[in-house]
Amino acid sequence: MIVTIDGPAGTGKSTTARQLANRLGFEYLDTGAMYRAVAAECLRRSIDPMDTASVGQLAQSLTITFDEGRTFAAGRDVTGELRTAETTQAASLIAQNPDVRSALIDAQRRIADERHIVCEGRDQGTVAFPHAACKFFLTADPEVRALRRQQELASQGTDVPLAKLLAEQTARDQRDENREIAPLIPAPDAQIIDTTASDIEEVVTRLEAIVRSKLESA
Ligand code: C5P
Repeated sequence: MIVTIDGPAGTGKSTTARQLANRLGFEYLDTGAMYRAVAAECLRRSIDPMDTASVGQLAQSLTITFDEGRTFAAGRDVTGELRTAETTQAASLIAQNPDVRSALIDAQRRIADERHIVCEGRDQGTVAFPHAACKFFLTADPEVRALRRQQELASQGTDVPLAKLLAEQTARDQRDENREIAPLIPAPDAQIIDTTASDIEEVVTRLEAIVRSKLESA
């Protein structure tokens, strides 16, 4: 069974997806890490993220793998590079590239084939797995999402003004929502879950109940 969780950053999507997979005994696929891995490799090779042809070629030839929570690009452990501000910005840019998207969607389908898996991203329920058994779309107020990011960074020892994070988040949301291919929108059959006032535990419990009832009726 494939479960998809889509939505913008700061909705608790990644943690929810990981915990849900854990509770269900499913595998977990973080597709944002795949876009980030391509971006990190671009930066390492000094490829301009806006050089569509070169980035497309790179994505088509790059093998991305996961092992025990770590991410590898062509066998190189890139985990430590995925969350930097530079990689985050480059990932958002290269995600608009059709060749990058088609390469990564092919890879996602290969990984998910015949598995029980929770796939998390922006287009999992709409484009990558339109026939997924269970689809969720997480939302939350923009200010709350930026505040969560600020708290996450603060816990890592970095203080960033809320207004700066909110502006960057809005720019990324706009790129995700307005790009021509695979824009960030809920699938028509996705359940919309607003996480503004809920903690992760509540959200995971709610999603788990929905998936289990689907499993029982399957
Ligand atoms: O989810 P995360 O913030 O790690 O994703 C990194 C970037 O990858 C996002 O800015 C988004 O533009 C892109 N992305 C995407 N489609 C996905 C997953 C991520 O376009 N399925």
